[in-house]
Amino acid sequence: MKYSTALLAASCALALAACGSQDRPEDADPPSDATTVPAETTAPARDAPAVVDDGSSMAATDDHLGPDAAPAAGDGASADASAAGAAAGDAPATVSNCSTTIEGNDRMQYNVDSIAIPADCSEFTINLNHVGQLPVAAMGHNVVVTATADYAGVAADGLTAGAESDYVPAGDDRVIAATEMVGGGESTSVTFSTSSLDAGGEYTFFCSFPGHSGIMRGKVEVTN
Ligand code: ZN
Repeated sequence: MKYSTALLAASCALALAACGSQDRPEDADPPSDATTVPAETTAPARDAPAVVDDGSSMAATDDHLGPDAAPAAGDGASADASAAGAAAGDAPATVSNCSTTIEGNDRMQYNVDSIAIPADCSEFTINLNHVGQLPVAAMGHNVVVTATADYAGVAADGLTAGAESDYVPAGDDRVIAATEMVGGGESTSVTFSTSSLDAGGEYTFFCSFPGHSGIMRGKVEVTN
């Protein structure tokens, strides 16, 4: 009992010291947590050093609560790292019954980078779960589908349309589908006709929140 309390105190003191020095330039918690983690988990995280920080901010927060959480946090970090690593490479969305569910997070990422729509689906549904915690005004996510040739123009016009339009230009024929904008912990969905999608055509899904579409973007294709 005494031993673990002392360990807890020591761990917290260590963490606070590390955080304290990082907290001055940064007022948000996640970055300081992320910078604290690598020092503690350098060895187990060596496989994917860059991605572990992204996925493990929650685990890092738990870490501060007590040393008991450390082994679990390590496991979580590895799992997150492989998931994030997959997303960074080739991570197709799981599609069944002409629908898919994808995630957006507080790190400005989707968990997939492509969606394959079966050619025999006359309608298709995209469900979006925002698994982060930040409010919609700070880290809003939606899913907009356009032809790849139209995506940059729609994204730009979405900025002009502004927050009240969920950063999607109203009545724009180039928009094949668009969900509403959601914040952390929220979900949304859109079901759209696939009649305007051609097999072999190049389509893009992206988040139209300002600054997100460069990273939060992937391929939509029609497959047989
Ligand atoms: Zn977004």
